[in-house]
Amino acid sequence: MTDITISHEQIEAAAREAYGYAATIKGGVNAHYIPYLANIDPGLFGLSVMLPDGTAIDFGDTTYRFGIESISKVPTAILAMIQHTPQGVLDKIGADATGLPFNSIFAILLENDHPSTPLVNAGAISACSMIDPKGDSDGKWKAITDNITALCGSAPQLIDELYHSESATNFNNRAITWLLKNYDRIYDDPDMSLDLYTRQCSLGVTSAQLAAMAATIASGGVNPVSGARVFDAAIAPKITTLIATVGFYQHSGDWLYTSGLPAKSGVGGGVLGVLPGVMGVAAFAPPLDEAGNSVKAQAALLKMMEILGLGIMDGRRVTIVK
Ligand code: GLU
Repeated sequence: MTDITISHEQIEAAAREAYGYAATIKGGVNAHYIPYLANIDPGLFGLSVMLPDGTAIDFGDTTYRFGIESISKVPTAILAMIQHTPQGVLDKIGADATGLPFNSIFAILLENDHPSTPLVNAGAISACSMIDPKGDSDGKWKAITDNITALCGSAPQLIDELYHSESATNFNNRAITWLLKNYDRIYDDPDMSLDLYTRQCSLGVTSAQLAAMAATIASGGVNPVSGARVFDAAIAPKITTLIATVGFYQHSGDWLYTSGLPAKSGVGGGVLGVLPGVMGVAAFAPPLDEAGNSVKAQAALLKMMEILGLGIMDGRRVTIVK
């Protein structure tokens, strides 16, 4: 097994080719169960890469703000680990892949009362309930959004219309919240915890911001642009493990097997990918496959990994040169 050296130019060329290829891929439909998402232009498509030295590579609609949705589970899991340690998150929520859809109630029952992982709806609502300061909705919201701002190096913006659209239709998540409450897995007021989860899903971000968040994780907790340490280096492998095991819901195994890229998707059409020590990537295109993963974003990231010949499991040391 040989080590590998890759230049910025090669990464940029791979991203350009992957973007061009994925732009031709058809198929999928916008998330229809959240009215706001159903009406987003399905033709939008962006691909962003950030390297550990802060170099940003962007193609397409990379400044369009879309609903972060499930990808918000990543920063809030990080915040729960910052505040309560990775062991605290393991004890209170767990780290098991469910192998079931993101909003599964069955998964809670199967896991024997456990929310499973902070990267599915149940665990994410539980994670929101863990965030300090307890009992203080405004304080918790500030902690959640400040953390996202530090990870991205710029602030997300709440999409009010999306927040109202989700709040009016989140009946399944209400059921999850109260079932978890029944099992003592909600660690603050249940309605407040659900509201914080719904609100964080409704934050608008760009693919460029998500690539910076991914690069911060890939760089062991240091934001490559601001230079600030956002979280302890020991948290990076924990969050990357959660992303790898459950980031694509019931397709997580297939996705990791095929792409070699730990990645987290959201029903807003975004996908964030982390290749530790190498790069953060993010793609955005609204039409989704039946598991809720963006069709074009998947195609772009998969193609990029193929062209570069990289993969988290291949055991090679990757050096990036200018
Ligand atoms: N807000 C969405 C929900 O709770 C997020 C789902 C997702 O992106 O997977 O259903």
